[in-house]
Amino acid sequence: MPQSRVCLTFDFDALSVWLAYDRVTPAMLYRGEYGARVGVPRILSFLKERELDATFFVPGHTVESFPDEVNAILQAGHEVAHHSYAHIDPSLQTADEERADMERALHVLEGIGVKPLGFRAPSADLSESTLPLVEEHGFLYDSSLMADDYRPFHPRIGDQVARGEPLVRGRESTVWELPLSFELDDWVHFQFNFDPYRKGGATPSDVLEIWQGEFDWMDANVDGGILTVTMHPQVIGRGHRIAMLDAFVANCREKGARFARMGDVAQAL
Ligand SMILES: [Zn+2]
Repeated sequence: MPQSRVCLTFDFDALSVWLAYDRVTPAMLYRGEYGARVGVPRILSFLKERELDATFFVPGHTVESFPDEVNAILQAGHEVAHHSYAHIDPSLQTADEERADMERALHVLEGIGVKPLGFRAPSADLSESTLPLVEEHGFLYDSSLMADDYRPFHPRIGDQVARGEPLVRGRESTVWELPLSFELDDWVHFQFNFDPYRKGGATPSDVLEIWQGEFDWMDANVDGGILTVTMHPQVIGRGHRIAMLDAFVANCREKGARFARMGDVAQAL
């Protein structure tokens, strides 16, 4: 049976994720800064100690605001992929705004020598324009959708969907989808917020049970399955959560899983 693979992915949103809210305060922005000041260095030393390759989705805003941290990610041999410029949910942008934001981020990444293979939409949400834009700009893969769990697929462009009418399928895009899920996203479980309110504050053992359960089931039942874990330096960077990630990695390793960068997985498809 082909080996299971795990993609550790980190969305290095820093301030950008907070700036996208309607009401932005300095305290919110400093929460974002924690991701750069503490999260990224801590994650990089963890990945180095455990000899793990990972993928970092980095908004252009973060690349320009925290160049040293982004450079450290690249120097360590991890993949840097596209995560918009300003971390605005594409469904809230006009088609022109979305294109301009995507191209600005591409330009910023080019400035640090990165031609990204992959894209992840901010807030894992898409507009009608997103997939056509991702395809047009030559991305090999997207990692924002949840139509599958352990297997890549080609998302469709041009579906016709209406209430009371059955789905009329569009064409398959050339882009590979490496699916993610909110169950395997640290923000959903851990990140407390006042407004908009998010409960957060999950106990790591509860989240470990979910993440490990997903891996163990895939490993036992799916040939060559790929599990994508989505994390944020400003969330997973806390000590008790890094300890949880360590336990998760140890279990996957024990069962013979390989850890891979998303770009490497997509290139081998
Ligand atoms: Zn993000």
